[in-house]
Amino acid sequence: QDFSVENETILSYRKNSPERKALQEALKRTAAKCEEVPIVIAGKEYKTDRVVHQVMPHNHAHKLAKFYYADQKLIQQAICSAVETQTKWDRVPLVERLKIWERAADLMAGKYRQDLNAATMLGQSKTVIQAEIDAAAELIDFIRIHAYFLKECTKYQPISENIKVTKNSMRYRGIDGFIAAVSPFNFTAIGGNLAYTPALMGNAVLWKPSDTALLSNWRIFNIMREAGLPDGVVNFVPADGPVFGDTITASPYLAGINFTGSVPTFNRLWKQVAKNIDSYINFPRLIGECGGKNFHFVHESADVESVVTSTIRSAFEYCGQKCSACSRMYVPESLWPAIKSGLQREAEQLKIDDVQDMSTFTSAVIDDKAFKRITSYIEHAKKSSNLEIIAGGTYSDSKGYFINPTIVQTTDPLDRIMTEEIFGPVLTIYVYKNSDLDKAMDLVGTSTKFALTGAVFGQDKEFVCRALEEFKMAAGNFYINDKSTGSVVGQQPFGGGRMSGTNDKAGGPHYILRWTSPQSIKETF
Ligand code: GLU
Repeated sequence: QDFSVENETILSYRKNSPERKALQEALKRTAAKCEEVPIVIAGKEYKTDRVVHQVMPHNHAHKLAKFYYADQKLIQQAICSAVETQTKWDRVPLVERLKIWERAADLMAGKYRQDLNAATMLGQSKTVIQAEIDAAAELIDFIRIHAYFLKECTKYQPISENIKVTKNSMRYRGIDGFIAAVSPFNFTAIGGNLAYTPALMGNAVLWKPSDTALLSNWRIFNIMREAGLPDGVVNFVPADGPVFGDTITASPYLAGINFTGSVPTFNRLWKQVAKNIDSYINFPRLIGECGGKNFHFVHESADVESVVTSTIRSAFEYCGQKCSACSRMYVPESLWPAIKSGLQREAEQLKIDDVQDMSTFTSAVIDDKAFKRITSYIEHAKKSSNLEIIAGGTYSDSKGYFINPTIVQTTDPLDRIMTEEIFGPVLTIYVYKNSDLDKAMDLVGTSTKFALTGAVFGQDKEFVCRALEEFKMAAGNFYINDKSTGSVVGQQPFGGGRMSGTNDKAGGPHYILRWTSPQSIKETF
């Protein structure tokens, strides 16, 4: 394929670099006030009496933003206005839409790059590099590359056999009604994608950002407005989850839900849609990315250093709060002593601190709820006789929600710590006998309900071929001799099967097709 679009370059933030200086100023500006963020419907701002705050996870006494939950009435108002806007927006010629997206990508890459990074660092406790690959690079890539895919896609026109008599064509329309985008805290870029890719395709959107990514998401919303996106195409509607879910699924005009979050929440939305199915004007499209229990599987032929580095990065960067983070690992007995000491040595050295310190490797987990959930697994490990903590295991929430990277060894590959999603810095390892390779490989695809990402490590070609066959259904994003995180838009389209989601592959050329309802036209002269 001939790509005429490139991924955004990731900046280095070296000492004395201009980007570092600009970032430091943006951090100061962002930390200096508690920004007030309204609900925005059709360009008009609203406030309600349900006041909520976004705090810094690594310093929870510090309030970063004050915002408001939309109530049922306001959500309904947003639906009515979106439905009205959709018809008009869908008529805006493609070239004009693409120009807005191009302008937005340029604003994100230039003028607002450090404001996006600062809001992501302070609000979601990402380190500078984790913010840069998300709120800068990936966000810009979603905006630019999905727009490029749309341009390419519209080049396809159906065959016209006798052009003197008939002409066949296809138009890529938006979908009648409105799309609800429900986005997570862990990637600023995902919020941008969930709300703005449907908008790109001619849809009108109600965007419910995550409470804990409010400020960075608000920045995206403002950039898109500055780039020229008309009022009402995307509406900024922070809300209580169940109130939002119940209200959008009760509307006959629901055209789709673009969701990233937990399995129970996606299931709940799906059930509500099923309950109301007779009342809709469309079959709502349900697109969901729902988490994982991602594996690193090591073969006896693997390179130990690369296993250690990749695993530390995958399991502990951003505190294991990427959907793609490795949280279970299978290691052959023959390599275990070397891998164990390597992992322990590296885990000990990681700097866990405030994100404003540029040498921090990872910081706090997102909130109190996450802190309690993750530490309950650590307590479970402390109590169980088949589990042994070999690194970390300590935590404190006195200033921020800090949990030290924790490594657990298990003798039971089916213990719940090996099968349930933890979404935090806890990695569990099962050591298998070299002669039990077959049994160990069987566990990968059968012991959890998820199938998001996975990686195998080995130099033996026969093993790699076998893994490609046997792990075919065990991961939507599969890595050979590389970590399970870090998919790049346009390079490794992202998504998983089974209970990890509907696998629509954000960042790939087919994703945009979920957000269009094309019309075939035959014209006879
Ligand atoms: N695409 C990201 C990665 O590969 C993960 C996205 C997510 O957490 O949902 O690391």
